[in-house]
Amino acid sequence: MHPSVGPLRCALSFVLVATPLAAQSNAERVANDAYTRSHDYHLVHQRIEVKNFDWDSTALDGRVTTTLVALRPGLDSVILDAGKLLALTRAADSRGTPLRTAAHGDTLVVYPARPVAFHDTVRFVLDYHARIANGRGLTFIQPEGRAHRPQQIWSQGEDHDNHLWFPTYDFPNDKMTWELVATVPQAYSVVSNGRLVSDRPNAGATHTVTWNQDKPNSTYLVSLVVAPLVRVADQWRGIPVDYYVYRADSALARRLFHLTPNMIDVYGRLTGVPYPWVKYAQTTVADFFGGMENVSATTLVDWLPDERAYLDRPWYQWILIPHELAHQWFGDDVTTADWANMWLNEGFAEFLPGQYWGTTLGPHAAEDYYLDEYRQYLQIDARRRMPLAALGSNNIYPKGALVLRMLLAYLGPERFWASLHVYLTRHALGNATTDDLRQAVLDATGENLDWFWSEWIYGAGHPQFTVAATYDSSTRALTLSVKQTQRDSVLTDTSGVRYETARVFKMPVAVRVGTAGGDLVRHVELASRDQTVTIAGLAGPPEGARVRPAHGLARHPAAARPRPVGPRLGHRAAREAPGRLDRARRARLGSRIRRLLPDPRRGRRGPRPVRGPGGGGPTRGRTPRHQRRRAARRDRHIGPARRCTRGRARASHVPGRPELRGSRRRPHRSRPGRLDRA
Ligand SMILES: [Zn+2]
Repeated sequence: MHPSVGPLRCALSFVLVATPLAAQSNAERVANDAYTRSHDYHLVHQRIEVKNFDWDSTALDGRVTTTLVALRPGLDSVILDAGKLLALTRAADSRGTPLRTAAHGDTLVVYPARPVAFHDTVRFVLDYHARIANGRGLTFIQPEGRAHRPQQIWSQGEDHDNHLWFPTYDFPNDKMTWELVATVPQAYSVVSNGRLVSDRPNAGATHTVTWNQDKPNSTYLVSLVVAPLVRVADQWRGIPVDYYVYRADSALARRLFHLTPNMIDVYGRLTGVPYPWVKYAQTTVADFFGGMENVSATTLVDWLPDERAYLDRPWYQWILIPHELAHQWFGDDVTTADWANMWLNEGFAEFLPGQYWGTTLGPHAAEDYYLDEYRQYLQIDARRRMPLAALGSNNIYPKGALVLRMLLAYLGPERFWASLHVYLTRHALGNATTDDLRQAVLDATGENLDWFWSEWIYGAGHPQFTVAATYDSSTRALTLSVKQTQRDSVLTDTSGVRYETARVFKMPVAVRVGTAGGDLVRHVELASRDQTVTIAGLAGPPEGARVRPAHGLARHPAAARPRPVGPRLGHRAAREAPGRLDRARRARLGSRIRRLLPDPRRGRRGPRPVRGPGGGGPTRGRTPRHQRRRAARRDRHIGPARRCTRGRARASHVPGRPELRGSRRRPHRSRPGRLDRA
């Protein structure tokens, strides 16, 4: 989608076209960086100055000063991404000498005065007037006479939309520092990335606000919010943790966001990497579709739950806040090198909240959290079976969370978190691919999990089992025939890439056998498609047997029932049945969240302390049944979690998530009696 200019790129294009795509597996293409964009310069810094915002014409005036380093000798043209609605008014080098430019669609070519030598630096200034197709890159919000909807502007960069309001390199695999300088009416705040440098009043009832992101990051994470906001200040170990909300919401903000410092603390302890940025801001805006993890400045939908909704809709705290915060490590500090590896951003961000709740509330809370992910994954997989690491993968959120949880179960907490520590520190402020994560595990543990990556990350689907059992009373031996029945039925993708499902998933399973004398558990390694497991020396005839894979995707246990006795150990299946139990479980979730909220009548309550890496706190008792029933009635209003959004180009990647479809879609307000699906 990005025009290529120049003989080198043409030659590369020829090579790619000449290679038959059908010959390449998904694993080869992802692991070989086939989806990572080439660039012949390194973007070092941009000073982005924006002013004269016009809500009627959705336009602004901009000046961007770009500093970059040539990555090839004789760099004679700099190809930037710049929306075709950006009308250039001036291009000049650092001495003010005009520069020649050419625009082709969403590409702007700047010709330096003379060719730039390899690794030499060049700087130039571009002035422009930008018209914005509202909702693309920037969204201008008008009050429209509605309450709780002040006039405002917010940006949304991911995937490729920030170049629609300032010229830049709009792909994640080059990281720069930046300043954002915005001149806005005096009544409006400006929230952006990094450190607040200055806020100066001007003549004409405007002020100019300067933010500085002085650690390099991908340009899709550049953020701008202009709105009448108040700042509710909090902190974690001296680092500002700010909540920017409308004045009308200021009394609710602390109650909603107050767990953030504790989440920062827990994530830092689990990963061994302290929060990486100079501040953390969470800003609520209108018509947003969830949250976006702009570095150090997350943007969130302005549906602040009111006093009543705190009881009814825990999703905002349960998933949205911890998900976007997790991205500050996974996605922002270490960023996917391309969109085919996007699960590295989203899978970790979806995985970590379960760890937070498990650490804070106990293992049952984590079970609840991942059970939701499991159900979402099954729905998505039923529609289209895709690998986790693939361009446009539809399951990066739930399958990512589940595969990482399975990896945690396989490696154990010490080796798992040590591996993540290697991954985070090795690629800090940089980019990573799926294979970089495998390499980090190998270096931290000595174990090459290439088979795990092939089966679970590059391959599609998950294992499915049938189990048949026979019992020989003469030898008192139970024989289980465990067959893997998953089929490789995935057709070749339109791009020529074929997604394969492993014929055999290698995995440890627990075989639990119920007998009159109690349950017996044997751990078995499955390594073939059709495997026989014999458990001899039982005290008597078994009442039932259950094969349960390690935590994760394949957690649905396969049961076998040797005649003539009835099933046992069926409680898991009952618990996972849809319907009433599901609502009760959600209500229990709300009850847990409520316990963490400060209650002025009882004094401030907060989360329990962390017990160390991977450690879980004690489990809280369950809510009495009558309270669960009452909560379940309220729970009709609990909606699905809004997650970090992705740009328009990615919107169709999660067909199971209507709330993620279409960044231009206006979300519905919650109404009594309907599920809160947008
Ligand atoms: Zn996300």
